[in-house]
Amino acid sequence: MVRYLSTRDPRAAPSTRSFAEVLLAGLAEDGGLYVPDRMPGLTGGIAGLAGLPYAEIAARIIAVFAGDAFPSGELQQLTAAAYSRFRHAAVAPLVQIDEGLWLLELFHGPTLAFKDLALQLVGPMFDAVLAGRREHVTVIGATSGDTGSAAIEACRDREAIDIFILYPHQRVSEVQRRQMTTVEAANAHAVAIEGTFDDCQDLVKALFADAGLRHELNLSAVNSINWARIAAQTVYYVAAAVALGAPARSVSFSVPTGNFGNVYAGHVARQMGVPIDRLVIGTNRNDILARYFASGRMALAAVEPSLSPSMDIQVSSNFERLLFELKGRNGAAVGETMRNFRRTGSMPEDDQAWRAARRLFSAHKVDDTETMQTISKTYARSGALIDPHTAVAVAAARADITAPGRSTPMIALACAHPAKFPDAVERATGLRPGLPPPLADLLERRERIVVLPNELGAVSRFIRAHARRAGATA
Ligand SMILES: *Cc1c(COP(=O)(O)O)cnc(C)c1O
Repeated sequence: MVRYLSTRDPRAAPSTRSFAEVLLAGLAEDGGLYVPDRMPGLTGGIAGLAGLPYAEIAARIIAVFAGDAFPSGELQQLTAAAYSRFRHAAVAPLVQIDEGLWLLELFHGPTLAFKDLALQLVGPMFDAVLAGRREHVTVIGATSGDTGSAAIEACRDREAIDIFILYPHQRVSEVQRRQMTTVEAANAHAVAIEGTFDDCQDLVKALFADAGLRHELNLSAVNSINWARIAAQTVYYVAAAVALGAPARSVSFSVPTGNFGNVYAGHVARQMGVPIDRLVIGTNRNDILARYFASGRMALAAVEPSLSPSMDIQVSSNFERLLFELKGRNGAAVGETMRNFRRTGSMPEDDQAWRAARRLFSAHKVDDTETMQTISKTYARSGALIDPHTAVAVAAARADITAPGRSTPMIALACAHPAKFPDAVERATGLRPGLPPPLADLLERRERIVVLPNELGAVSRFIRAHARRAGATA
């Protein structure tokens, strides 16, 4: 059975945890991220998945990661229930937009972004595991826009969970903000922080580092550092590859990247045996990853607002999981590198790791001008309206296709519904995309807005004051 260890575990024989433990904990106690002790293959390979419903493919893939966390049959029930809430029966349909180029539409869930694919499942998985243990948790997360609403939607009104989501004040779109601030649920709190997404992420890390708070409220994370989300995200890579002819034919993916969680899930799918040729990283002007892949230097710059706010990130948390592999699964070396990065804003260069990384991924920076051009060109060529994040993926895909020797089908991940970012889409195409029916009155709903300074004390006081219950209820 797969067990999990921290990317910063310095021991030669690391202590390991189960899927259920890793699901509930999110971040490891030493500040590292959990990774499997070995990458499991799929029993019987991926050929047997052709033609199966999405929920069934999800159950089979997640089963290899979850081990005995769920009694037999429960995972099937959880995936069937989670994906029945999607507005498209195929859950994650492929739409061809050009010769050799497809969109994988990941925005048919309740909050219109790809985060729903993982969180609609991870919320109920949390509840199921907690019910078995008679425990209560306080989920804390940082969001650059889309994770927050998806997490709140996945955890709202669940008995065993309180949820607090920190988002950067005035740096998310109106639709994104309203999807968090209009939720009427006693257990769900969206908190605007006077700072950037990276500040929010730092606050979450600091809250976790406070052992008192961590134990008193049984803190947990569902942001993209939670392994269960990565596991759930590998599913659409597998399903899309199989739909376009894998394992007989290889495919490539282009992924609009911020925290590196989504594209890392593609990497995991590849390690599980899916024949993926290219994994293309698209970044906006916040291009730390593109600069790293070009130069080998991972160096922080200031976060700048862009048309694709969910990618306005400098510290790509999930990159640490890749780093762990690149450094030969040496937790001590990863811990040292990450501490250095935190202290100085840049990672010590490691030529060997960089070369290995370039064999696995390519990266392209797409600025706002190119993003707008891509939205308008895509509409002109195919009639598809795409959001700015999707446009980054499409532009990066096109940049990569023109590189010599690429003939595999390219799948660009459509990570948000165009109506989530209607201003940019309207400016580029002249058409204003409307919100789909369940959200049609979002702009009229009443908001509950809380703004706090970028201060650990203020945030932890707010959480203590509003969490419904402390620790285990048993
Ligand atoms: C979250 C998000 C991203 C970035 O995904 P990561 O997993 O953080 O790399 C890109 N686009 C949209 C629409 C998102 O919501």
